[in-house]
Amino acid sequence: MLSDGTKVAAPKFLRRAARRLKRLQQALSRKQKGSANRKKAVVKVARAHARVADTRRDWQHKLSTTIIRENQAVYVEDLCVVGLCRTRLAKSVHDAGWAQFTGMLEYKAARYGRTFGRVDRFFPSTRMCSQCGRVNEKMALNVRMWDCPCGAAHDRDVNAAINVLAAGQAESRNDRGARVRPGLVPAPRGEAVTHPDAACSTRSVEGISVLQGGEDVNRP
Ligand SMILES: [Zn+2]
Repeated sequence: MLSDGTKVAAPKFLRRAARRLKRLQQALSRKQKGSANRKKAVVKVARAHARVADTRRDWQHKLSTTIIRENQAVYVEDLCVVGLCRTRLAKSVHDAGWAQFTGMLEYKAARYGRTFGRVDRFFPSTRMCSQCGRVNEKMALNVRMWDCPCGAAHDRDVNAAINVLAAGQAESRNDRGARVRPGLVPAPRGEAVTHPDAACSTRSVEGISVLQGGEDVNRP
């Protein structure tokens, strides 16, 4: 769910392939241990699982690239996947691959010079009203729409996405504020020499020269 109201349904890759996987798994279990046919069946099962993972990763790559290209800043909810996986939704949560997906967003944000942030998993993104800020009672997973006493009517996921965005923005503003400090002043000559890290300087100089040497070798 994106904060602008766009809903992206994650295809159920694993569930879609379930019948095929089941059939291959059964075929494998009928093969005699240690036989050549069993080895072949093992490869088939592994290949089918790898294909599910590949399709999912491919889909996530396309979506994460689009999101990062189209937005200057992206904040994601750090979902408690372990917690969710103890519920009936377990398979669907794993199937969506949230952790892998947010990982992609994170490194692509760095690559494209975008802001990326994770919002704390204990932040009440769902039950907080994005209009008045009131934190309401916890609600069951099947409640998709709800009304706040302030009169606002919410779609559960849109409201949560708006809250995550606001929290992410607030957090990154704080971060920036904390980093405000007087500009660097060049150290006087004497101080640079007596710096406690001076002892390490020879080593790092050596390290750099080694790296440069390696680079030269690779240069055409
Ligand atoms: Zn409200």
